[in-house]
Amino acid sequence: MHLKDSLSKAIARLTADNVPSPRLNAELLLMFILSCDRAYLFAHPERKLSTEEESSYEAALADRVRGVPAQYITGHQEFWGMDLIVTPSVLIPRSETEHLIESVLEIQTSGVRPQTSDQTYPEVRGPKSKVRIVDVGTGSGCIALALAKELPHAEIHATDISLDALEIARANAARHQLDRRIHFRQADLLEGLKRDFDFVVSNPPYVGESEEDQVQLEVRKFEPRNAVFAGPKGTEVIARLIPQARQRLRPGGWLIMEISGTIAEKVRELLEGWQDVQIKPDLQSIPRVLRAKKPKIDNRRP
Ligand code: GLN
Repeated sequence: MHLKDSLSKAIARLTADNVPSPRLNAELLLMFILSCDRAYLFAHPERKLSTEEESSYEAALADRVRGVPAQYITGHQEFWGMDLIVTPSVLIPRSETEHLIESVLEIQTSGVRPQTSDQTYPEVRGPKSKVRIVDVGTGSGCIALALAKELPHAEIHATDISLDALEIARANAARHQLDRRIHFRQADLLEGLKRDFDFVVSNPPYVGESEEDQVQLEVRKFEPRNAVFAGPKGTEVIARLIPQARQRLRPGGWLIMEISGTIAEKVRELLEGWQDVQIKPDLQSIPRVLRAKKPKIDNRRP
């Protein structure tokens, strides 16, 4: 069959099966099978597909129809301008998560003056300062990699409870020559980490099992459960992370976390005693990025 016929057949099939963005998916999977870019698809409509290419395309389409995310079929997702490897052991990086990076950079490169705390401790920040950052539950490594890329003088740590995820994160770091910059370690959140950090950054699981039926089939069935769901309420992992972050942050250090609108108010309550708590929306106006500062003088510190 000719390329253009395979493509239109595929679009018709994905449309019939209610796959969202059928054209985009059909093109993406064909680009993957032929290892080509989009321009090639349009430049060579008469290119004949070999039997092998046809059957690989067929298999990829069948996976997509049963709900497998295109990223798990192609094994790739872009994040912060970097091509990352993804497998079903890691959550597929989302563009909303890029707001976490922006938030760290905003504080780090411009130097946010504390609104409430005293001015006797000037903020000594800038792109070149040697801050120490940890990405908790790194998954594919997307957050750690983006921060390592943007902040060449920062010391970056990344944890995950899943060894399979860490393997992918390490591979991604190596592919982008960032492996020497990031210290990966298996840990349950921040457990066992000894150092103090300027930033604790995390996109933790925050969906409640009670909201499960509102979650897309692709996510529910194919993304790692423990990366998506935190427990019945959705706040369970965050409730453990907040006190751990409080302990491991330097006074004046920041916790930057991805959250959702459903849990925003509950999380705010968990942050009693923190300073400059702010929740920013994503592009869909959903509360998404939370920042909170550990007070400079922390009376609660043991
Ligand atoms: N930190 C990873 C990401 O942002 C994984 C997050 C997760 O698994 N919950 O994609």
